[in-house]
Amino acid sequence: MCLAFPPLLIFHNYRLHRDKTFYLTVSRMQTSQPCLQCGACCAHFRVSFYWAETDDVTPGGVPIMLTEELLPWRRVMLGTNRPEPRCLALQGEIGSKTKCSIHPRRSSVCRDFQASWEVGIHNLCCDKARAAWGLSPLTPNSWNSPNNFPKAA
Ligand code: SF4
Repeated sequence: MCLAFPPLLIFHNYRLHRDKTFYLTVSRMQTSQPCLQCGACCAHFRVSFYWAETDDVTPGGVPIMLTEELLPWRRVMLGTNRPEPRCLALQGEIGSKTKCSIHPRRSSVCRDFQASWEVGIHNLCCDKARAAWGLSPLTPNSWNSPNNFPKAA
């Protein structure tokens, strides 16, 4: 059962990397980054996190204007605390082309959510979110990554 918004790992800012060989390798990997054509997890779960992650308390944190209070010690991304959630920070069309508009400033719960098989680990919550949007589950072959092999530990 997906109780919260579990590990999410969507995009990395590889462009800062100056090694050309590395950059070209990663550029190829990015062409098969299924999260950029998905966004289902950002439009399926409630996304709540510890209140102090917002930028009124933590400089560079989650923009507080995109959140609301859930509990005295927790905030929630606007648009996700409802029966048909969709985070207000999500741009684009689910299953086609999507982008987190606050990616460098997203909450810990977003950072921790790991797409299924991205690092060789199956995530049933990723499958569940994709299924809700009529998308088939990701498989190890969805990733053009050297880390997509199954791991025992
Ligand atoms: S903040 Fe970004 S990563 Fe987190 S749910 Fe919203 S769109 Fe998705």
